[in-house]
Amino acid sequence: MSFLLAVVGRPNVGKSTLFNRLVGKKLALVDDRPGVTRDRREGDARLGDLSFRIMDTAGLEEADAASLEGRMRAQTEAAIADADAILFMIDARVGLTPTDRAFAALVRRSGKPVILVANKSEGRGGEAGALEAFGLGLGDPVPLSAEHGEGLSDLYDAICAAL
Ligand code: GDP
Ligand code: MG
Repeated sequence: MSFLLAVVGRPNVGKSTLFNRLVGKKLALVDDRPGVTRDRREGDARLGDLSFRIMDTAGLEEADAASLEGRMRAQTEAAIADADAILFMIDARVGLTPTDRAFAALVRRSGKPVILVANKSEGRGGEAGALEAFGLGLGDPVPLSAEHGEGLSDLYDAICAAL
C-alpha cells in the first residue's frame, strides 16, 4: 500500500520534528521561531511495516502578519488537495488556538481521512490539550511526542485505521 500523508497544523506544533523522525533524516528544518523560511518538503517515511510518502508543510517566509495567514492557508490547502490522508497536529501543551481551529476547518472540509495528533504529550503535560482537541470533532487525538519518539505505535494504529 502506498499513500501520501500530509502533516498539517499551525507553526511550532512539531510537524517538522515528526517528519524528520519518520523519514529518518533531517530533511525538514526544525525551528522555535514561527517566521523562518521553510518550504513544503516530501520524503519516504517508515513506521513499523508501513512505508509511505510524507509531506511537511510550513510556508512562512517572513513575519508579515497581514499576508502570513493567507500564505499558510494556501500552502496547507495545496498539501491537503494532493494528500491521500491528513495528519492534523496540535500542541497538547498549549491547547487549541484560533489558528488551530481555522486549520481544522480546512482539514474537515477536505473530506479526506484525518489522523488527529496531540503532540508534545510526553509526561502528563498534554492531557488538557488532548481533551480540548477531542472537541474538534475529528476523532480521538493520538497523544504523541515527536521529539521523544513516544506514541508511535498508537500513531501506526491510527494511520492503519484511517486508510
Ligand atoms: P513545526 O513548525 O510545526 O514544523 O514545528 P517544529 O518541528 O519546527 O518544532 C517546533 C518546536 O517544538 C521545536 O522547538 C521542537 O523541538 C519542539 N517540539 C517538537 N516536538 C516536540 C515534542 O514532542 N515535545 C516537546 N516538548 N517539544 C517538541
Ligand atoms: Mg516545520
